[in-house]
Amino acid sequence: KRRFPNEPEYHQAVEEVLSTIEEEYNKHPEFDKVNLIERLCIPDRVYQFRVTWMDDKGNIQTNMGYRVQHNNAIGPYKGGIRFHASVNLSILKFLAFEQTFKNSLTTLPMGGGKGGSDFSPRGKSNAEVMRFVQAFMLELWRHIGPETDVPAGDIGVGGREVGFMFGMYKKLAHEFTGTFTGKGREFGGSLIRPEATGYGNIYFLMEMLKTKGTDLKGKVCLVSGSGNVAQYTIEKVIELGGKVVTCSDSDGYIYDPDGIDREKLDYIMELKNLYRGRIREYAEKYGCKYVEGAKPWGEKCDIALPSATQNELNGDHARQLVANGCIAVSEGANMPSTPEAIKVFQDAKILYAPGKAANAGGVSVSGLEMTQNSIKLSWSAEEVDEKLKSIMKNIHEACVQYGTEADGYVNYVKGANVAGFMKVAKAMMAQGIV
Ligand code: NDP
Repeated sequence: KRRFPNEPEYHQAVEEVLSTIEEEYNKHPEFDKVNLIERLCIPDRVYQFRVTWMDDKGNIQTNMGYRVQHNNAIGPYKGGIRFHASVNLSILKFLAFEQTFKNSLTTLPMGGGKGGSDFSPRGKSNAEVMRFVQAFMLELWRHIGPETDVPAGDIGVGGREVGFMFGMYKKLAHEFTGTFTGKGREFGGSLIRPEATGYGNIYFLMEMLKTKGTDLKGKVCLVSGSGNVAQYTIEKVIELGGKVVTCSDSDGYIYDPDGIDREKLDYIMELKNLYRGRIREYAEKYGCKYVEGAKPWGEKCDIALPSATQNELNGDHARQLVANGCIAVSEGANMPSTPEAIKVFQDAKILYAPGKAANAGGVSVSGLEMTQNSIKLSWSAEEVDEKLKSIMKNIHEACVQYGTEADGYVNYVKGANVAGFMKVAKAMMAQGIV
């Protein structure tokens, strides 16, 4: 905190990890001798730069650009790029820190990184997005590469933006390599990558529900967000017999008591991905409730699936969920629950999976995309989906192994942190003081 003041999200993420690994850490005095924790809490390096671009009216705009290369003990830096007005160094450092342990959990050889800009794609034309992305890449391209640092999408960065980034990178670096994941199918993208985070979260949820002898059939689910993660979360819940009654965007949420079915989901996908509209329009089209400026957590449900952004579910929301009979919370977003909310879930002993474990499916399939690019082959959707399922199952097992408490309750936060941390720590130990 002394070294990095004014970085609340970063402190929050670090404190969450450190408070859960203490017991395991203390069993390894060799870690302390080499100041391992301090080395893990300071990113390997951070690039910060100005992005200058011209809008459609001919005005010159500036934005900040960043890439945080947090840790590459187990593989090249890997993590998404976020374009959102709220982006700052604290948020990107928390995301890069989390990414390091998440990537370790996947068992694939990937280090942790994250980047982005305070550029907001909202209301921008295609041409403006392209000009901004090209200006952003003019600086970023020299810091990344297929064996160095492999970015992907995140909030505000989907197929369109990854395509523009890849095109500019290819031109500047004069090479065609798998330096980005989440690419279009035609130029090296993996099948199932768009679906992976949402599907993976539901595969993880199913493993958790299995420990209670139940599944998704007939369960009422609350989803927040209506972007990439939310859309494929809803798709998988529908497929497995659950009912999703909410989704949201940064303006508010919709509540559809009949459930979002396949046809309504197609509409959401079109609305959000093609027209870049607002979720309010869903309520207008289907005549259901829309609540401006609020989160969906007050609605009655069996399962909550936060899939929008960090700190979107606080202590009061958590108490409401528990009081309403919610039995499981599985995070598609990164750090959506505040520390107070997590405590409420754990005190109530309901199933609670942190994003680090539950949303690791996205980066896992990114890892599989890297492999396919390296061997210059592409796998079928079934093959990738099977691999994704088995990775999520393994992550669940690792959480149970390291997180089961004396009374049998699985503390998935502890399990994920300890399992993720131990691998990175051991790799750092083996590589000497660097
Ligand atoms: P998208 O940009 O596709 O969607 C984000 C959604 O969240 C949109 O509905 C957006 O609303 C909403 N949102 C964003 N910021 C806020 C905010 N400050 N307050 C309220 N709502 C907000 O992003 P993704 O679906 O890719 O990402 C969602 C979450 O999942 C993020 O936490 C991300 O880090 C995490 N994640 C994503 C992965 C991926 O593969 N894409 C992998 C692992 C984690 P609006 O339309 O109004 O902006």
